[in-house]
Amino acid sequence: MKKSTLGRACLAGGITALALGLVPSAAHADDAPVERKTLPVLVEFTDSSFQHPDKVAEGTPDTYFGDRKDSLASYFSELSRGRYTLVPAVDEQYIGPVELPMSAAGCDNGRINELTREALAEKGLTMGEDYESLSMVFPAQKTGCAWAGLATVPGPYTWINLYGTASGLGVLGHEFGHNMGWGHQTRSMCTDGDLVDCEVNGTSAKSLMGGGGPGAGVSAPELIRAGWLTDGEAVKVTGSGTFTLRSLHGEGSGVRALDIPMGEDRLVVEYRHAAGSFDDRIEGVHAYRVPEGDYGSSTLIDLTEANKTVGNDAPADADAVTALKDTASKVSVAVVSSGDGQAKVRVSLDGEDLSTVVDAPEPSAEPDPAHTGSDTNAGDAPLDGTQPQGGAEEPAADADAGAGAADENLAATGGSSATLPVALGGAALVAAGVTGLFLLRRRRNA
Ligand SMILES: [Zn+2]
Repeated sequence: MKKSTLGRACLAGGITALALGLVPSAAHADDAPVERKTLPVLVEFTDSSFQHPDKVAEGTPDTYFGDRKDSLASYFSELSRGRYTLVPAVDEQYIGPVELPMSAAGCDNGRINELTREALAEKGLTMGEDYESLSMVFPAQKTGCAWAGLATVPGPYTWINLYGTASGLGVLGHEFGHNMGWGHQTRSMCTDGDLVDCEVNGTSAKSLMGGGGPGAGVSAPELIRAGWLTDGEAVKVTGSGTFTLRSLHGEGSGVRALDIPMGEDRLVVEYRHAAGSFDDRIEGVHAYRVPEGDYGSSTLIDLTEANKTVGNDAPADADAVTALKDTASKVSVAVVSSGDGQAKVRVSLDGEDLSTVVDAPEPSAEPDPAHTGSDTNAGDAPLDGTQPQGGAEEPAADADAGAGAADENLAATGGSSATLPVALGGAALVAAGVTGLFLLRRRRNA
């Protein structure tokens, strides 16, 4: 049994997560593409119904599975480059509305989950067989939920506390991202250029999981966690060398990430450049610390002045890395060149002099020609540079449970303990770092 945590966080218009055990990804990019049978269920309460049930019902198939570029399924297909597709679990593409025998008040997400699955069982639909991902969509008016979305991390469940008639990708994509095992992505400011001295400050703005909105896609550590990069695309660096990186997103071949040993942690380096629906506002080489190999809990390393991110209208490469070092593990990185869809990065391990590092053998990397300039940023408000206010409380609950015991754990923990009352001026930004840091602490204590 894995140690589990109850994660949480989020805010106004926000987004929350329940962490139910960190299970190392078994997926691998060389495996066959995954088709995830996904079931949106519209649920109502004895005392609360959708204000426009017909519109909600009409829009649900398109929101989840539509051909348009910003449907949930299209988004994950593009992000995974076809390796992970959400497919409808039933012909009608959704179920409901189903009235649950419970009041909306109290935001009891565990009970909503239990009663929804009971209602589905009565229709002959069983979790794990007929559907693998359950998305419970309910009217927000009387629930009192402090979040717009909630999800298991990783896991099969999402809760959508729906205002209006359809969820944006900013909420849906983010919650389904939690289901992939991705926590919230923080930013570590290491302003003297050395990774031994960093301070967590805000979020990365490089990921849908770090306040970047859907247009940021996700970062290299998250793609590695999901198993969406091949060994040739995410190169494990075992010796000093110079590497050529292509853009992280987009079609084509080449190295997309460097995965570098850094003491007990890993250092992941990527090159971001507009490609397809992603990274119109992100450019340059970026680096992340991956705590003890937990690729779902990475933090962006920012060596620049505070708050110079695309989130507050700085240039797209404002927080790009040019050089960094970690004196503790004797790792150094220098960016030789960066731009036009390609970057050259020199890596030194074991304290070797960077200037003596020579080119490493590498597959050819092609600049990405596929950029269309489209922007699917929707729903999630862009990071406005506001920092979380009021501090982050410790998670209120914590339970031992394997991934298979998710239901019991959820029912036991309930929803109210999983929320973080943080006001962020309407930015659908995640409470910075709370989940990731907490997981890291737990792991070290375990
Ligand atoms: Zn979240």
